[in-house]
Amino acid sequence: MIKIEQLSKSYGSHQVLKDIDAEIKRGEVVCLIGPSGSGKSTMLRCINGLEIYQAGSITVDGERVDASKKSIQHIRQRVSMVFQRFNLFPHRTALENVCEGPIYVKGESVKEATEYARELLASVGLANKMDHLPSQLSGGQQQRVAIARALAMRPEAILFDEPTSALDPELVGEVLAVMRRLADKGLTMVVVTHEMKFAQEVSDRVMFLDGGRIVEQGVSSQVLAQPSNERLRDFLRRVT
Ligand code: ADP
Ligand code: MG
Repeated sequence: MIKIEQLSKSYGSHQVLKDIDAEIKRGEVVCLIGPSGSGKSTMLRCINGLEIYQAGSITVDGERVDASKKSIQHIRQRVSMVFQRFNLFPHRTALENVCEGPIYVKGESVKEATEYARELLASVGLANKMDHLPSQLSGGQQQRVAIARALAMRPEAILFDEPTSALDPELVGEVLAVMRRLADKGLTMVVVTHEMKFAQEVSDRVMFLDGGRIVEQGVSSQVLAQPSNERLRDFLRRVT
């Protein structure tokens, strides 16, 4: 569904992604792991049309992604993103945060968008928090609102960029539980995470990014249990 070929991306003279080749199939859950600064966020941002890239190509169902206005509009409707820091509108309630995109970007009626938003918020365990502002919610609750907001666009895939890294440890589980349910339902997901247990148990494949290159990828259970690359072995020793 998502196909990345020979992708290279630089900021000025600093090359951040080097000849990335990767494919994500429909319904697949792929964890993207690697040290800080290895280019994980940049790769997600390229897939979502948030960054221009210098070489190679990215296609979603055959449709080319670049940072042109037309491409961005299409891609944002098909691929949603969940960020480390939630990025909710602070002066809108949970319900309004979830409705906004469907109403203003997709042109859904207020009634239709509101009904679906209520359903989604209930499905992430926030039926009784719909009228709360982000400041009245815990980090874990805010992130669950952000996931409901991403789902409200009825996307074909969701990209998660370290969705639990900003949370207090006791709130991580509730967010991972929601993500696990989405994976079980067959949603296509690319997840940047340091939660190796989640990667091991939930993802189909992992990609290990180091210095802007994918240096190892494969079936999660195999790659994480028996990494062949020395830098991946090092990395796993440090995070687990
Ligand atoms: P990761 O998410 O794996 O920690 P990033 O994709 O955020 O890595 O960053 C990869 C590299 O690109 C880092 O060296 C970072 O400093 C650099 N970088 C990221 N964003 C920018 C930017 N907007 N301008 C310049 N350099 C950037
Ligand atoms: Mg990052």
